[in-house]
Amino acid sequence: MKVILDPQAGTCGGVKRAIELAEKELTEHPKDVFVIGDIIHNEREVERLDRAGLKTIHRNELEELHRLALNNRARVLVRAHGEPPETFKRLEELGVEVIDGTCPVVNRSQELAQKYQQEGYQIAIVGKHGHPEMVGIIGHTDQKAVVVQFKEDVEKLKPGVATLVMCQTTVSQDWFDQMTRMIEARVGEVVVKDTLCRFVVRRIRKLPNFTGVADVILVVGGLKSSNTKMLHASCKAINPRSYHVVSPEELNRSWFEGADTIGVTGSASTPHWLLDEFVETLERWMARGWPERDVGDGE
Ligand code: SF4
Repeated sequence: MKVILDPQAGTCGGVKRAIELAEKELTEHPKDVFVIGDIIHNEREVERLDRAGLKTIHRNELEELHRLALNNRARVLVRAHGEPPETFKRLEELGVEVIDGTCPVVNRSQELAQKYQQEGYQIAIVGKHGHPEMVGIIGHTDQKAVVVQFKEDVEKLKPGVATLVMCQTTVSQDWFDQMTRMIEARVGEVVVKDTLCRFVVRRIRKLPNFTGVADVILVVGGLKSSNTKMLHASCKAINPRSYHVVSPEELNRSWFEGADTIGVTGSASTPHWLLDEFVETLERWMARGWPERDVGDGE
């Protein structure tokens, strides 16, 4: 049995940049660096940065920052998902140093939504209710954009009104196209802007090159990560022996029965060190024997 690592796997540019910004700030100001919400949708990376001193706060805790910062000089990192303009305004009023880690791709979506909203368009964003990226984009439309996640959401749009349809950067192309057709059927002609992240689109397009050579696929990524869920669903559609895993302790020996090749991949929010941990664990178990007791239950 051999283990292969997907050559395309590893964090995207936006996530990588936010993590590098956090690490740089932590080196210079180890006690006073905060991030609004989990810096990345990956529990293991959040734990690692938490151990390094990064403090995660909720948007409604901003008023507490001066009390929480040990040296009274809080620095707040905005993660790759971005924030609504009100957050930046409040941070400025509080006199807090802001490190803007908003991904440039997300920034473009925010600007696009804002521009069309100011021109009088109704904005429909295909994506998930409450997802932090959506919260940030909606904030750029004075809270007027309509999230379209379910069929019922389409009914919230006004028929016969000039409408822009865009999407959360990490949804699937099929879902975006499907929802766009439903929106058109409700409101009439629409302006469609494909705001999918090209990094994610390319990953999905090239996925069969990798999944085709593995008998079992491990999709490593956080439980809250939309991108990991979509990657797992795409892998599973090609190979039913695909498992979404967060930590090596979840591996179950029965998954690998009769397999010659195990493929390890990860989403845009899965750091390389975590992928390596899976590869090394599997190789160690293959060389020295699998642990007596399996912890994971499988899916
Ligand atoms: S997945 Fe794309 S949009 Fe999201 S942070 Fe990464 S590069 Fe930016």
